[in-house]
Amino acid sequence: MTSAATYSTTSQTGTGRPAASARDLTKTYGSGPGAVHALRGVDLDVAAGRFTAIMGPSGSGKSTLMHCLAGLDVPTSGEVVVAGTTLRGMDDTALTLFRREHIGFVFQAFNLLPMLTAGQNILLPLELAGREVDRAHYDAVVGVLGLADRLGHLPGELSGGQQQRVAIARALVARPDIVFADEPTGNLDSEASAEVLSHLRRSVREQGMTVVMVTHELEAASYADDVVVIRDGSVAAHLVDPSQDELVAALRSKVA
Ligand code: ADP
Repeated sequence: MTSAATYSTTSQTGTGRPAASARDLTKTYGSGPGAVHALRGVDLDVAAGRFTAIMGPSGSGKSTLMHCLAGLDVPTSGEVVVAGTTLRGMDDTALTLFRREHIGFVFQAFNLLPMLTAGQNILLPLELAGREVDRAHYDAVVGVLGLADRLGHLPGELSGGQQQRVAIARALVARPDIVFADEPTGNLDSEASAEVLSHLRRSVREQGMTVVMVTHELEAASYADDVVVIRDGSVAAHLVDPSQDELVAALRSKVA
């Protein structure tokens, strides 16, 4: 099957409005002959309540797309809508507030504070924001990520996979509308990667989270429900529940 045959124009899978969408998104770095067209008219709906992987070769525009969708970067043209709100026209302060309220982030580096326990790291963003902790939700997040017996440990006493699960719990506990994970297993060996990805998938299934993960690893993408293949700044394929064969075919295909 070719990637064109599995291309989906509506990826909402019956859950209503998408968690995030991009319309005719472009991003150009620089100008004149040296300009780099990192995104060349991306149209994308990220389905709510699903785990979406953004894949593609190095330099294809994955990070730029994620940064524009997450309000970390401003596109050159086009529109981004997250949780029903357009990001167009928001200044830096408005974007910062919007991100704090609606978006969770997980990065390759775990970014945990070494002198705080796992539990304290998970709760820190809520405390800094002066938000109340929903204890039942906290317990559910900690449970789904398998951290209940690790909460009193310092990051240095945890494995890499456990540290990344703490970082994921920290992102989920604030109940964001969408979580962006940028190469979340980039610092992990294959066993720890599998452990983190299966917990991430469980949080989508059991907590109804929406997760968008940028990865260049086929193995990582195989944990996702939907896979968006980016090539040369465009969406080459958007696969919904692909089989491993369909995924491999879409990644190999030069012409989507
Ligand atoms: P990927 O995440 O798929 O590796 P990127 O989104 O990082 O791709 O980059 C897409 C293109 O944009 C690449 O050609 C890259 O060199 C270029 N690019 C990314 N960020 C910048 C920047 N800040 N200034 C200039 N060019 C950039």
